[in-house]
Amino acid sequence: MTSASTHNIEFRSVSKTYGSVTAVSDISINVPKGAFMALLGPSGCGKTTCLRMIGGFEQPTSGDVLIDGRMMNGVPAYRRPVNMVFQQYALFPHFNVEENVSYGLQQIRPKLANAEIARRAGEALEMVRLGGFGKRRIHEMSGGQQQRVALARAIVNRPSVLLLDEPLAALDKKLRSAMQFELQTLQRELGITFVLVTHDQEEALSMSDFVCVMNAGTIRQIGRPEEIYDHPGEFFVADFVGKTNRIEGTLEPGGKVVRMADGGALAIVARPGVEPGPVVVALRPEAIRLEHRPARMGEITGVITHRVFLGSTAEYSVAAPGIGDVLVTADHKTMTESDLIEPGATVTLAFDPAAAHVFRGTANQVTT
Ligand code: ATP
Repeated sequence: MTSASTHNIEFRSVSKTYGSVTAVSDISINVPKGAFMALLGPSGCGKTTCLRMIGGFEQPTSGDVLIDGRMMNGVPAYRRPVNMVFQQYALFPHFNVEENVSYGLQQIRPKLANAEIARRAGEALEMVRLGGFGKRRIHEMSGGQQQRVALARAIVNRPSVLLLDEPLAALDKKLRSAMQFELQTLQRELGITFVLVTHDQEEALSMSDFVCVMNAGTIRQIGRPEEIYDHPGEFFVADFVGKTNRIEGTLEPGGKVVRMADGGALAIVARPGVEPGPVVVALRPEAIRLEHRPARMGEITGVITHRVFLGSTAEYSVAAPGIGDVLVTADHKTMTESDLIEPGATVTLAFDPAAAHVFRGTANQVTT
């Protein structure tokens, strides 16, 4: 079955169960052609299961998976226009780099001339900046280089979709950042759809065009990284994507004040539709400024308990009555000598009321 579609990948009410375990529950997603989408969520939320259903390594229990408008239910992995890069690169140790890259092409296109295979393998190696490494043995390559070989192998037959299952997890932090940048560049150059599974929110935010945040087998929010970070749709998303402070209280009628258990008031701006009653407020650490002055109406005071210097920023823990520990990130570069606040100081936590995200319910109910 085919249908005209600008979507590269479509999930229509897809569920997947393993015995009594529901791994994915009634998910619908549309991934545009040529997009870089990250599937982000905690361990066990169903990310890999989604990826495996795109790849054809798993079939949905119910619902439809389409690629380029073609129904994929029942189509085996090797007949899909999809390749996958695994966390363990699964390279053949007894093949050299070029042989590893050309192997897949030989399997899929057995009639292709050897010279053409070598040309395409060379091109793929150039794309991952490994031109000239073709004759090297795998054990002579570093971890980062092996990762690139795995990538070259996955793109050599120009799939429509490339699936990446935590591909950078085995690399150290510095190499990982470099590879994140390179993967993003490679995706732009190739123009094919990348779907990345990660539980690293920084990786998801920095690399992808769209982030799909999952929890407990369901999609909680899909959007551009900035949308997800700046406009989380629920507390779980605010909490999982980036750091956030959790403040519980009661939203008063009018949507401008959250009253906390100790009687203190927090000035906020609730979105239309958030009903008065129990709420949880998400406030980013960088949205708060520490100020040496008495609190105004709707602000809170606290005592600095810790300060951690992190290079360009510093993180402060502030014990605030009625709330508990509040995390504040200060931009160190813009701080003057007089801004430096030592533990023990009493400060006011100042923030723009519009920067606070107010969600109905209590934290326990909304975070699961
Ligand atoms: P992680 O980040 O830890 O890899 P994930 O978000 O990728 O997690 P999945 O691997 O998709 O999560 O698993 C989702 C749920 O389905 C989990 O509860 C998992 O235990 C279960 N599950 C996955 N594969 C199987 C399987 N083959 N048999 C039984 N249960 C499975």
